[in-house]
Amino acid sequence: MPIRVLEPELISQIAAGEVIERPASVIKELVENALDAGARRIDIEVEKGGAALCRVRDDGSGIAAEELPLALARHATSKISALDDLEHVVSFGFRGEALPSIASVSRLELISRTGDAAHGWRVVASNGAEAKRVPAPHPPGTTVEVRDLFFNVPARRKFLRSDTTEVQHIARHVERLALSRFDVAIHLTHNQRRVLALPAAPDAASREQRLAQVCGSEFLDSALRIEHETAGLRLSGWIAQPTFARAQPDLQFWFINGRPVRDRLLVSAARLGYRDVLFHGRHPAYVLYLELDPARVDVNAHPTKQEVRFRDARLVHDFVHRTLATVLSETRPQAHAHAPAPTRMFEPRQIGFALRDTAAPTYVADTTAAAIAPTSSPDEHFPLGFALGQLHGIYILAQAADGLIVVDMHAAHERVMYERLKLLAGGEGAQPQLLLVPNVISVSAAEVERAATQREQFNRLGFDIDQLGAQQLIIRQVPALLARTDVGAMIRDVLAELGENEQSLHIQDRGNELLASLACRSAMRAHRTMTLAEMNALLREMERTERADQCNHGRPTWMRLGLAELDRLFLRGR
Ligand code: ADP
Ligand code: MG
Repeated sequence: MPIRVLEPELISQIAAGEVIERPASVIKELVENALDAGARRIDIEVEKGGAALCRVRDDGSGIAAEELPLALARHATSKISALDDLEHVVSFGFRGEALPSIASVSRLELISRTGDAAHGWRVVASNGAEAKRVPAPHPPGTTVEVRDLFFNVPARRKFLRSDTTEVQHIARHVERLALSRFDVAIHLTHNQRRVLALPAAPDAASREQRLAQVCGSEFLDSALRIEHETAGLRLSGWIAQPTFARAQPDLQFWFINGRPVRDRLLVSAARLGYRDVLFHGRHPAYVLYLELDPARVDVNAHPTKQEVRFRDARLVHDFVHRTLATVLSETRPQAHAHAPAPTRMFEPRQIGFALRDTAAPTYVADTTAAAIAPTSSPDEHFPLGFALGQLHGIYILAQAADGLIVVDMHAAHERVMYERLKLLAGGEGAQPQLLLVPNVISVSAAEVERAATQREQFNRLGFDIDQLGAQQLIIRQVPALLARTDVGAMIRDVLAELGENEQSLHIQDRGNELLASLACRSAMRAHRTMTLAEMNALLREMERTERADQCNHGRPTWMRLGLAELDRLFLRGR
């Protein structure tokens, strides 16, 4: 074939291939246009999954009659006029491609009226030919109607999924945009049935309501509010406590200057922020807004503008990661902060049980507990209260000012040990202790090798471990912190465990792996009997420890069953 210039219509259809993948992409582009036009209310109607009809109506600025045909022309936009403008662009659109692209693969009609016009005007896109406009009744604002999507592109039509699936995609896109513009009311119907009703959310309370509508009320319950600003970077939003972690990365929303993006750099920075507190293989949940000078980020890196390029990527990455890590490190027991909420776990329920006259109590509360725990002390210095006893050798029960505290002793102790080991590794207060009798352990050759690779880290913590033979190690010195544990068995276990993860872990995660493993091995096992004094010491230690609300696998370490909840369980005061 000879070389030739493509027909404009074909060019549009090719361009549409990039940005219009399915009905949800149409809705995204139209809603973004409505938001760019300053709409306060947007109504979206969809039929048959969007393939039959996508109609978006807004009350925004409208388009002047003489500009209507232009709106459908390729590379026609009111949002930029020079390359420089791209540096400061804050609108969703700027490429002038959406409407012509959509029009080239559907039957598109546009009705619009500006605030000062007496009536609206309608144009029907007529692929290639100049669109003619006719008067039409319309309130100030714009309606774009897209029918029979991909009627002329059978290949694309074949890829459409069921109506339900397509509508779900549409709803996800709309929800994402709804999280970027809380001040705009957005409604979505499918085959005349309501799918989303999001009233404008002008204040903090209604914003949280919208957040709960989109992300679920459990997300909101466990969300920590974030707001932090330095060096011209501002990060705000909500992050879920690590115990809310998800099996999929499906609740991760990033916005840059209000634009929803899926950016790998930001996702990885957030993940790093959660590194120490997340259960293995789980994903954090968050809604985060990054604001910075538009000149510092290039949004013209991808046709759908979902990916961006930062001028100073390293700085942004560190800022995000540090901010999240700091907020998460502050999740320690606090008197009035929302404790890991047990409400849903303690549904009032009566479970039938048989009374046995031989029934012996499974634990005996030490009578001295009363002496240690002032019965009704409103003492806010000790949010975890004072130990009453041990339950099945697994849980510590404690009385706090406002109810019962249940602590998973292994998980809690593990976190405490982990944080202490991190301090040691960071060079704070290492206290090595020589063993009276050096401990010789037999290990595999691979484990000897592993001990050698970790040598520096071991030394920093206060260990002195050397190779004795091809398959033997000698331990001469340990950190005082670990002096009471069975050091030989612990080191053997740790070296074995490091082997298991050798292939799977990223280098970045490896740094603390030794510490995490040591913490787990040195933490009190379940079924170890503790004295009240030991239990109280652990409670106090938790109150001092960063990230004490979760063990380092992200499981909760403690729960509060408040007096109010107990009253509810027993139907007291009703
Ligand atoms: P872009 O958004 O990149 O400018 P579009 O093809 O999406 O390109 O839209 C072209 C132009 O049509 C926009 O620049 C804007 O001026 C106008 N326009 C589109 N939709 C609307 C709307 N809902 N309200 C007002 N103007 C609109
Ligand atoms: Mg647009």
